[in-house]
Amino acid sequence: MSPFEPSNAQSNHKKLVALNMNPDSDIKKMKQYEDLEIRCPRLGGQVTFAYCLHERGDLPCPRVLTCWQTFFPVETYLKEKLTPEERGRCFNEPPKDKISTIFEIVEAVKKRKKG
Ligand code: SF4
Repeated sequence: MSPFEPSNAQSNHKKLVALNMNPDSDIKKMKQYEDLEIRCPRLGGQVTFAYCLHERGDLPCPRVLTCWQTFFPVETYLKEKLTPEERGRCFNEPPKDKISTIFEIVEAVKKRKKG
């Protein structure tokens, strides 16, 4: 299942309409984007944008722009939310090797099942 399946897009669109938000602006209300959900291509289940924002503790998942850019101006949101140093650590660090990534995903799945 793709993270951009119509069910996710329709559900998120309804939430945005319910919030009376203009997806291209209204930075003050952007915190409410955190309740939106998509199917995570890494974990294989539904996750909220709030989860993606803290996927690495104090940092968002490095794929956050790719996964969310079709739903709202996520880049603008992150410019407001993160410092330049945090954005650098999030998006400019070299990718981890596959084994480390697999262990991180396993740990993330374990945490989700406990919570
Ligand atoms: S941003 Fe990361 S955690 Fe969130 S849906 Fe995409 S891959 Fe999954």
